[in-house]
Amino acid sequence: LVSEESRASATPMMEQYIEIKANNPDSLLFYRMGDFYELFFEDAVDASRALGITLTKRGQHMGQEIPMCGVPVHAADDYLQKLISLGFRVAVCEQVEDPAEAKKRGAKSVVRRDVVRLVTPGTLTEEKLLSPSESNYLMALSRIRGGASPQLALAWIDISTGVFQLAETEEARLLADILRIDPRELIVPDSIFFDPELKPVFDVLGRVAVPQPAVLFDSATAENRLARFFGVGTLDGFGSFTRAELAAAAAAVAYVEKTQIAERPPLGLPERQSAASTLFIDPATRANLELVKTLSGDRNGSLLKAIDRTVTGGGARLLAERLMSPLTDPQEIAERQDSIAFLLAETTLADRLRDASKRVPDMPRALSRLALDRGGPRDLGAVRHGLEVARDVASLLSKQDLPAELEGAYEDLVLLPASLEGLLAAMLADDLPLLKRDGGFLREGAIAELDEVRALRDQSRRVIAGLQLQYAEETGIRSLKIKHNNVLGYFIEVSAGNAGAMTDSDAARSRFIHRQTMASAMRFTTTELADLESRIANAAGQALEIELQAFDRMTAEIVAAAEPIKAAARALAVLDVAAGLAALAEEQGYCRPIVDDSRMFAITAGRHPVVEQALRRQALSPFIANNCDLSPTGSGTNGAIWLLTGPNMGGKSTFLRQNALIAIMAQMGSFVPAGSAHIGVVDRLFSRVGASDDLARGRSTFMVEMVETAAILNQAGDRSLVILDEIGRGTATFDGLSIAWAAVEHLHEVNRCRALFATHFHELTALSEKLDRLSNVTMRVKEWDGDVIFLHEVGPGAADRSYGIQVARLAGLPASVVARARDVLTRLEDADRKNPASQLIDDLPLFQVAVRRETALRSGPSKVEEAVRVLDLDDMTPRAALDALYELKKQL
Ligand code: ADP
Repeated sequence: LVSEESRASATPMMEQYIEIKANNPDSLLFYRMGDFYELFFEDAVDASRALGITLTKRGQHMGQEIPMCGVPVHAADDYLQKLISLGFRVAVCEQVEDPAEAKKRGAKSVVRRDVVRLVTPGTLTEEKLLSPSESNYLMALSRIRGGASPQLALAWIDISTGVFQLAETEEARLLADILRIDPRELIVPDSIFFDPELKPVFDVLGRVAVPQPAVLFDSATAENRLARFFGVGTLDGFGSFTRAELAAAAAAVAYVEKTQIAERPPLGLPERQSAASTLFIDPATRANLELVKTLSGDRNGSLLKAIDRTVTGGGARLLAERLMSPLTDPQEIAERQDSIAFLLAETTLADRLRDASKRVPDMPRALSRLALDRGGPRDLGAVRHGLEVARDVASLLSKQDLPAELEGAYEDLVLLPASLEGLLAAMLADDLPLLKRDGGFLREGAIAELDEVRALRDQSRRVIAGLQLQYAEETGIRSLKIKHNNVLGYFIEVSAGNAGAMTDSDAARSRFIHRQTMASAMRFTTTELADLESRIANAAGQALEIELQAFDRMTAEIVAAAEPIKAAARALAVLDVAAGLAALAEEQGYCRPIVDDSRMFAITAGRHPVVEQALRRQALSPFIANNCDLSPTGSGTNGAIWLLTGPNMGGKSTFLRQNALIAIMAQMGSFVPAGSAHIGVVDRLFSRVGASDDLARGRSTFMVEMVETAAILNQAGDRSLVILDEIGRGTATFDGLSIAWAAVEHLHEVNRCRALFATHFHELTALSEKLDRLSNVTMRVKEWDGDVIFLHEVGPGAADRSYGIQVARLAGLPASVVARARDVLTRLEDADRKNPASQLIDDLPLFQVAVRRETALRSGPSKVEEAVRVLDLDDMTPRAALDALYELKKQL
């Protein structure tokens, strides 16, 4: 398309199109023509297929017909939404001059056009394109080489709300950190995008990850570029950032500028998140625990859905964020709990807060649209409304003795400029149109001059109505009408048969000026009418002018107050989350967990938050609560391990997951589904549960299981919580048993973490004789008439049998198969008794020996070794060498 020949043979308009398209090769080009955005060539073919709209043709290019399709401008958002969700990117190309200007340059001149915006998944602002309860992050990844290991950093921006954060990361946790934020779009320097080491990460992310030119990520100019964007001389005031962080932040900002072109969203200053401040949840665990969506991708059935009682978009987004990034600082967690406890005690206040919050519009998103010059009168209305609610909420909170977090929120609410609310209330009408272009959004009395011109306009309209009567009398034509259309403006219309009265005398002819003859009617005007008409047009033009000026003024004042508005919106979200979690705790009977720096994990009467609600909704028998205690025994600090056996369907997975979910909920600052809970902060949560099938990517289930298990055994530390379900199931029995056996020993001796280990292999229960922190527990069942009844109770001991055959029978396996299976089982059990696996306990050498060697390997070189390694002896003076020796000695 972009060849010389192609250009030379194009019409002037096509030439312009081809040039613009050449600059935006990876986007569909929405080319503005009148009331439509038109797409041509390949774009037209792709878009018509994706949108299900008709593909037509327009003219020819190099002897071929040009495929074309179009979408009306007023409905463009709907089409954009569809295209974006299908993974397309769109360049919106507008006419950037008045067509009259182009005409002046010559009859053949094409109206100037330019791309005014790139619409990409990570840079959306339109209400229709965004989900109110989800953040919409654009994320940038940067890598700085040099030094022992490369520095990696992530920066993420939600331009619809102005949130801007960054964090350092590492290769091992890169995917986990990305998924924690869950960006809609991740930009990556093209140099990294194809790096084989990181490729698996981008494979998982699929279309979310997009390569961008490396210059965007240039770290040498990053600081300057950021300073320029924020209009400051230096970034010193923002805190200190690493080079990788600066590069990621500058890339994210550059991409925002690249996509938004002329406009600037009201971004906050970048805030750093430190890795240690959040609970690390690896990607498999995040997915398997179905925190924000189920394994099948549905939001229904997720933990988030089960605990979300927020009533505002901002609140829902904040809750999701807290769930995705639980805390590790007991103090901060306690502050969030204090808010919930306070609102649980002050029920009337909590109810009122929630009532008031229900009316909160999405202020930050309205603010962003206004700042990007994409706002309409309803966005002004949203801010007006939001400010009102903020004031109401602040007055509810005043004179209360608030806990710290709520006090902070209150202070942000009272800091809002009252003058802005006053201005908006005085100016804006009650019912607001969507678009500003036709005016009609200022209230009567807002601006005296506007009232005058509006009165003039209305008065003129009344005069015209009067004229109709007058003309009818003068001419004696009772059916004479004054009408209006866009071509003629106001005109007098009489039927053809009556037209004589208007033309039969000189006097009449000079009074009624002929305009148009129709088949059945004639149209006239008069100087009076024309005069009134132009007065009306002028007045309307003036009125619109005044309204648009006022719009700009209000927008400017709102944008100037962006920081306090965003802080207030954040405060309302904090209140909404606290009130929502209080309502949840009340409704579901949750308790306040004790979260501290100990290594405790003691839960009484714990329940699975999602299953419990589902059972209740379906009016099934209630959820059976269970205890769990993985606290260190005696005075030690090493966590305990529970080895859980029991039949299929007994409730093992549910129990495992519920304890992981309780830990997450506790650390996000929520109350938890339990009678009581005491949890020493967990720094990392690992799980290997369910069958997260990776078959599509060519790995067998067993391979996936082993990869995940390996990650856990390699990474879990003594503050971690580990949940393992049925390790070793995917292979032959003895293989599986051996792997499970060794894994339990490793957890106990090396990782020393708190762990729950569910297994089929009853043989493993023998390990409790050797491992002092390992306890056997089992899902209790009752046998009744050859059937099993699942009690869903966790009790001490080991399951004596699997009840697999009973379960198979319940599932409807043919009776003959069930009977035959019983026979086979009896034989096998007889054979097994002669060869008990418990012998392993006596026969196997101690794991300890192997362990010690491995511990040494695992911890790597010591600090001192590391320090010695980097010394450059050939380049040292004797004095420096002596100093270095003293340094080393200090480190011992
Ligand atoms: P397993 O992992 O042992 O095969 P699951 O955890 O999948 O068993 O549980 C099987 C079924 O029992 C699930 O449908 C679940 O709803 C129900 N269930 C599990 N635990 C409980 C409980 N504590 N109270 C009531 N029902 C439960």
